[in-house]
Amino acid sequence: MTTLGSFQHLTANWKAQDVPMPVLFIGHGSPMNAIEDNEFTRGWKNMLMYVPKPKAILMVSAHWETKGTFVTALQKPQTIHDFGGFPQKLFEVQYPANGSTWLAEETQRVIQSAPVGLDTTWGLDHGAWSVLRHLYPEADVPVVQLSLDYTKNTAYHYDLAKQLQGLRQKGVLIIGSGNMVHNFQYAQIRGDFNTHFGHDWAIEANESFKKLILENNYKDLIDFEKYSTALRLAAPTPDHYLPMLYAIALRESKENVAFFNDAVIGGSFSMTSLKIG
Ligand code: ZN
Repeated sequence: MTTLGSFQHLTANWKAQDVPMPVLFIGHGSPMNAIEDNEFTRGWKNMLMYVPKPKAILMVSAHWETKGTFVTALQKPQTIHDFGGFPQKLFEVQYPANGSTWLAEETQRVIQSAPVGLDTTWGLDHGAWSVLRHLYPEADVPVVQLSLDYTKNTAYHYDLAKQLQGLRQKGVLIIGSGNMVHNFQYAQIRGDFNTHFGHDWAIEANESFKKLILENNYKDLIDFEKYSTALRLAAPTPDHYLPMLYAIALRESKENVAFFNDAVIGGSFSMTSLKIG
């Protein structure tokens, strides 16, 4: 358990002599979470009490897929409203965090398995800012996004993610933002989108993922499609699953993993999130 004393320590700025920064995977769910105060957004904020304030954030969002691997390299990344059919006030949200040339170049340097391009066309998509505006409402931590190469398989992404390990020693908070279980085909909303309800297979998949993570069974997490029908249904496309795999790849053997926001909603989505370290 974290005591109040370490709580006060952890909320301070990260320093070079500190332990490596934790790693987060956040189940982001509906874009509306960006402007709501609900159990999930409160869960994000509560968890942050145990995370030192980082020097910079490297965000792996489900919503930026590219051919090849890129990092955002803008001084002032734009806030991208990459969705439709939501209230105007969601389109008005701006998240004015700075970018970080240092982190973009550092990410480029540590990834040896693939060339990493510097991108000036993207910015922060809602997978990033819908979460970040709750975690750091002042937008006072620089943010760089790392894209997901849609031409590569899960094993490739797992190996690439491992190469980011050294960034944790430099005060970088690596956040994967997606959803472990994410299948629009079987969406079934009861009440509002965040009402707890899951099909049997979705609940099974949520439990299986947690079990595999606790066992550090990365082989089955990489090959999740072979593991069970439930896991195949959980991630019919890899985009929302891969950010979780990035977080898992960064877990050192002795590091703890803590789950929060453990809930299945909308029939076929899980908000389950985790903190490593
Ligand atoms: Zn999403």
